[in-house]
Amino acid sequence: MIGTSMEGDLHEEVGRRLISQDQRYTSGRRALVGVLADAGRPLTIPEVLDRSQGVPQSTAYRNLTVLVEAGVARRVTGSDDHGRFELAEDLTGHHHHHVICTACGTVTDVHVAPRLEQALEAAAEAATADLGFEVSGHTIDLLGTCRLCRGAAGGGPS
Ligand SMILES: [Zn+2]
Ligand SMILES: [Zn+2]
Repeated sequence: MIGTSMEGDLHEEVGRRLISQDQRYTSGRRALVGVLADAGRPLTIPEVLDRSQGVPQSTAYRNLTVLVEAGVARRVTGSDDHGRFELAEDLTGHHHHHVICTACGTVTDVHVAPRLEQALEAAAEAATADLGFEVSGHTIDLLGTCRLCRGAAGGGPS
């Protein structure tokens, strides 16, 4: 969760990134960043529209594209055809991974304990040492079936 004062910093940094791309931080883009910040998981365009009063889909899509190009948001790949969007990790400071339901496509954020993150980093470095590769980060997607879809599969015909 992003607190009130951090949210002020967030918008300031977003504004800087947009200006460096010769883009303006319009009220519509500001609202969009607020929607992504509050969601706590990657959102599809229909989900973004649900949370934005009266914004045309073309406008939302164009603004998301601008945010992605400015490094403010990033596109998340799920298991379905929906593009999903979340704020960039270096912007929020919340490193996390994704749990992806292969049945309905829902993507949920998960956080891993710091000692496990350290173990992951050590494993990544050990695995790439021979390649002369410098690891700068990682993304891990966990695939499976969400609670709702498991319920539907186990519930029999209705
Ligand atoms: Zn599901
Ligand atoms: Zn991690």
